[in-house]
This record gives sequence, structure tokens and C-alpha cells, in this order.
Amino acid sequence: MRAVGLHADVVVAVSRTYQTTCTLVRSGGEAFCVDSPVFPDELEILPAIADQAGFGIVGLLATHADWDHLLGRYAFPDAPLGCAETTSARVVGHPGEAQRELREFDEEHYVERPGPLSLSALQALPVPGHCGIGDTDLELQPADGHTEDGMAVWVPWARVLVAGDYLSPVEIPMISPSGSARAYLATLARLAPLVDQADYVVPGHGAPLEGTRAAAILREDRAYVEALLERGAEAKLPLARRSAAQRRIHASNAARVG
Ligand SMILES: [Zn+2]
Repeated sequence: MRAVGLHADVVVAVSRTYQTTCTLVRSGGEAFCVDSPVFPDELEILPAIADQAGFGIVGLLATHADWDHLLGRYAFPDAPLGCAETTSARVVGHPGEAQRELREFDEEHYVERPGPLSLSALQALPVPGHCGIGDTDLELQPADGHTEDGMAVWVPWARVLVAGDYLSPVEIPMISPSGSARAYLATLARLAPLVDQADYVVPGHGAPLEGTRAAAILREDRAYVEALLERGAEAKLPLARRSAAQRRIHASNAARVG
């Protein structure tokens, strides 16, 4: 797992699988852990990474309810887990879904966990809204479209945007079964002014991006989703994201909007 410092108060760890990102954010004596890496050894070392950076983790946040972003409790078992109201509603409405998908991944890859995943006592946060940390606030913006739920987290003093599953340099826009291409475009439009102000953008999957690079990806992603709505399977994929895996995502996107 790679860990990189984006700011004195922001450290990002990138998982070996799916390049899923985990962002540690600090203000004053408090720090939050946003999303999670995936493998047990990565989760096990996370408290040491936080300690070393002088981040005292007091809470977890999840950008959305896809299982690979929800594993923070394995690293910080006693921390409260906050998420958007839409995400909490999705977890409550589909009990056991994240646990089942985690189990499928673990069986496929022969991964052993210390215990079952606990998502009890989720704290639903109003979004758009603010979330207090130390002596300041994180800003929360709705980010649905990839799935039916989700939020992006803006760290104003560090000018870092934690985008959830948007603006990925490694994955084309993915419209999940519960997602919507039109909602995806609305989220991109909502994130655009934050991307313009950002020094760094942390995508849900892939290494952190400088703001200008993220803005270029946002333009590519908007063009792709617009083309998907107009031309379905005929839409062209972004140049740097045309692997077999990305074409499979494109095929299921096209089936969904068609
Ligand atoms: Zn994801």
C-alpha cells in the first residue's frame, strides 16, 4: 500500500487492489479516516500510519455504501462511522449486502479477516452540510449517480476534494445498478467548482490528482456520460481508459442506459 502526504493535514493511502483510496484528514487534535483500503494487512497498518503522522483518529466517514469503501472499522474498531443520509438509507435498506459482497471478494482471493464487518450504529449526516472536526468543518456535497447514494468531502483549509467514485484516472464513469447517468452528470456539475479550487482531488480509485489533471478528467468523464446517454454502446471511451476491464464497465453502462 502506498501512502502520500498531500498537505500537513491530509494523508492518502492507496490499496493494492482496485487502487481504492483511504484519506486521513486532521484538524487540531482530531482526525477522520475517509473510506478504507481493502486487504487485512493494509487495514492493520493504518493505525500506525495515522500515529506516525500525528493523526489521532476519532471518526470514520464513508463516501458511499459500496463494500470496498466501508472497511475502516477493521482498522479503528471503536470509531463512529458517519455517512450521507442516502448511504445510511442504502445500508439499512439492503441489510447484509456489503458483508455478502466482501465475503465473495474474500473467497475469490483467499483472504481471511479477523471477524465479520460491523456497520452498526451508522451516523447519518445531512448532505449538503458540514461535519465538525477539531476547530473547523469539512464540507459535504451530494455525490450520487455512480450509485443511488453518496457524498464528496471538501477539506477547505487544505484545498483537497475527496470525491468518492468520481474523477478516477483508472476507471471510466461506472453507472451501478442503483445509479443514474443523469444524476452522474449533475454530480460532476456540482463538483466542478470545487475541482477548480482544489490543489488535489482524491478519487475513490487511483492515485491522488493535481487539480488541473482532475479538471481534465472531469471534462472527459462529462463527455463520456453525455455520449453514453446519446449513443449508448457507440460512445467512445476516454483515451487512457480503454482496457478490456473498462470496456466491460462500458458494456454494462450501455445496457443500463439503453
Ligand atoms: Zn468504489
